[in-house]
Amino acid sequence: MEYKVLAYYYIGKLDDPQAEIKAHKKFFDSRDFKGRIYVSEQGINGQASGRADHADEYMAWMHSRYQEITFKVHDSNEHPFAKMTVKYRKQLVAVDCDVDFSKVGEHVAPEVWKKMLEERDEDTILIDVRNDYEWKIGHFEGSELPELATFRQFPEYAKKLKEAKDPKKTSVMMYCTGGIRCEFFSAIMLKEGFEKIYQLDGGVINYGLKEGSDHWKGKLFVFDDRLAVPLDENAKPISTCSHCSCENDVYYNCANMDCNELFLCCSSCLKQFKGCCCAECVNADRVRPYQENSKPFRKWTHEEKLAWKNGTQL
Ligand SMILES: [Zn+2]
Ligand SMILES: [Zn+2]
Repeated sequence: MEYKVLAYYYIGKLDDPQAEIKAHKKFFDSRDFKGRIYVSEQGINGQASGRADHADEYMAWMHSRYQEITFKVHDSNEHPFAKMTVKYRKQLVAVDCDVDFSKVGEHVAPEVWKKMLEERDEDTILIDVRNDYEWKIGHFEGSELPELATFRQFPEYAKKLKEAKDPKKTSVMMYCTGGIRCEFFSAIMLKEGFEKIYQLDGGVINYGLKEGSDHWKGKLFVFDDRLAVPLDENAKPISTCSHCSCENDVYYNCANMDCNELFLCCSSCLKQFKGCCCAECVNADRVRPYQENSKPFRKWTHEEKLAWKNGTQL
């Protein structure tokens, strides 16, 4: 394992995001690092991989300036990211409303979260604040997805939920991949009048590292070449190939560039349909040539855009 894959975020006011971006670029100049790091007045959100010793240096460098960052670390034999991007983002999670980070949901450590799942009563709801395609290949048992076209509608969702459930009596447990989305969405729930909001600290990545796969079904979707990571080695797919319905949890972007739909596909159907989501796309004008053994998709551009549109930038 020569590389470490890091996922982390920092919520806290940055006066000069541009200076932070510059410092990051300078730091990475002489080191073997790849990934995506977003810097904002709201803080920093990063997923990156580095040669193991360089990753250790990076974590030490960040900790020397932002003590409260928790890094979630996976080992890897290669860089799951294509390049290094350090960029400014106005919002770390696209919610398009003001968020008061002094009033967020209570952070719940994985071991406590596990207990809460086991003791959950009818006044406790469990919501997954990720996209449907993420939920589809893996989620906590009994979790529900807010029905939203984009996560910018989350305040409306919270208002509706308030009509259906007593906001004083109802406990809301919420989780996401690495924890950052919950910082935003839990604050919105509190602002809407819910009083008992709990967020899984460090997200599912942290839960997997500490508690394994208890109460989790399937795999965890990630926005890099790994596509999905198992919380333990026995993880079985809970989703199916969109062509033949066999058990499958591998996503592809349709090779028809004018479609580019994200779809689940097994390897034999991928070959048969030349990397396309349907027969119609196979015969379309602009189809990327099918290559066996290529990375399922290196370019996340479309998905990143989609996630951004949905307000769930990791
Ligand atoms: Zn298939
Ligand atoms: Zn298609």
